[in-house]
Amino acid sequence: MTTQEMQIAFEQAYGRKAEKMFFSPGRVNLIGEHTDYNGGCVFPCALSFGAWLLIAKNEEGVLRFHSLNMPQTYTIPISEIKPQADRAWCNYALGCIDIISRRHPEAKLESGYDLLYYGNVPAGAGLSSSAAMEVVTARAFTEEMAVSDRGGYPCGYTDEKAYRTELALIGQACEHEYAGVMCGVMDQFASAQGKKDHAIYLNCDTLEFEHVPVKLDGIKVVISNTHSPHHLDSGAYNDRVRQCHTAVEQISKVKPIKFLAELTPEDWEKVEGAITDPIAKKRARHVVGEVARTAEAVEALKKGDIKRFGELMTASHVSLRNDYEVTGKELDSLAEAAWQVEGVLGSRMTGGGFGGCTVSLVKDEAIDEFKRFVGAEYEKKTGIKADFYVAEIGDGVARLI
Ligand code: ADP
Ligand code: MG
Repeated sequence: MTTQEMQIAFEQAYGRKAEKMFFSPGRVNLIGEHTDYNGGCVFPCALSFGAWLLIAKNEEGVLRFHSLNMPQTYTIPISEIKPQADRAWCNYALGCIDIISRRHPEAKLESGYDLLYYGNVPAGAGLSSSAAMEVVTARAFTEEMAVSDRGGYPCGYTDEKAYRTELALIGQACEHEYAGVMCGVMDQFASAQGKKDHAIYLNCDTLEFEHVPVKLDGIKVVISNTHSPHHLDSGAYNDRVRQCHTAVEQISKVKPIKFLAELTPEDWEKVEGAITDPIAKKRARHVVGEVARTAEAVEALKKGDIKRFGELMTASHVSLRNDYEVTGKELDSLAEAAWQVEGVLGSRMTGGGFGGCTVSLVKDEAIDEFKRFVGAEYEKKTGIKADFYVAEIGDGVARLI
C-alpha cells in the first residue's frame, strides 16, 4: 500500500484529509538473544517495514481509532483514557498517549483526534509490529501534546538521541501497562533509533548504544517466518528470567555480581561450579556465551569479517537450542536447513523463541536456492509453508508529512 492510498483510506474513514503522517519500523535482532534482561547487549536493526499513522484533530473531544489491519474501531473520550478490554488493539496507542501525559506534566491533550493505522510487519512474527505501533504513536503525540515553543524537540528535548530514547521508553511503558507484556526495551529502541544500513549495539541496562554500519557486499539479511502457532508465552519467559536470577544468586556466593552479563567466559570457568541447579547452569552458560559472542560479532562486522559474524550467528542458535531451550521444532528446522545451503554464512532464531522468525546471512546468488531448499525442508518436517523476506535496514521513526 502506498502512502497516497493511506491518505485516501483516511478520507474514506473520516470524511476529510489527514493533517500529518508518521512512520516507525519493525526490527530484527541480528545477535544477542535473551541477554537484555541479564544486563547484556543486543544488536538489532530497524527494517523498512513498519507502522504508519495518519492523524487529524477533531472537535468532538474523542479519540477515534481505525486500522487498515483490524476490523474493530474504537471511540474513546479524551477525558477517559485508560486500558480497554484485554487484547483491544487500541491499547497500544492509548497507552502511549496516557504515558506521555504522565511522564511530561507539560504535555496536554487539548483536542480530540482521528487516527488511522496501517502496518506491514507480519503480525505476531516476532518482528515487533507492536513496538512499531507504539513508537509511531509516541512520536506523533509527543509532538501534538508537548511541542517545544523554544525550538528543539517535543517535551523540551534539545538532543535528538535523547528524544528518540524517550520515545522508546514511552513505548515500553505502554507495552508493560496497557498490553501486560513485561518486555525489555530493545524493540521500541530499535524502532526509535534505527538508522539506514546500520545496526544498533545497545546495552539494555544503561541504554548506551552505538550505530554500527552493516556493509554486506553481495550478501543479504534474509528473514524466514515459521508461521508457527507456538509462541514464547509469559510463563516460559518468566521461567527463564527466574532461572537466570537463581544463577546470579548462587554465583554471588563466590563472586558477587548483579547481572550474568558481567561474567567473561574466563570468569565462567571459575564460577560455574557454584551453580547447583543444573537448569540454571545451562541458562547462565547461554547468557555468558551470548554476551561474548555479541561483542565479538560487532568487532567482526567492524572489520568486515562477515564470515565470522555468520559463524557467531549459527553458534548463537546452537546455544539457544541446547542451553536456553527456546527454539523448538519449527525454528530448528528452518535454521538447520539454512546451514546446509551453500552460500549461507550463518542462520539463527531471532526474538523470544519457539515461533517467530529466523535471520540468515545469504549470498545474493544463493537466495533463490535458499528459499527453495529451506522452504521445502521446512514443509516436509512441519507441514507449514514458510515465508521469506529480504530485509532492508531502514531508518527509525519519522514524520513524513
Ligand atoms: P509482534 O511480535 O508483532 O509485536 P505482538 O503480539 O506483540 O506481536 O503485537 C501484535 C499486536 O499489536 C496485534 O495483535 C495488535 O493488537 C497490535 N497491532 C500491531 N500492528 C497493528 C496495526 N497496524 N493496527 C492495529 N493493531 C496493531
Ligand atoms: Mg510485540
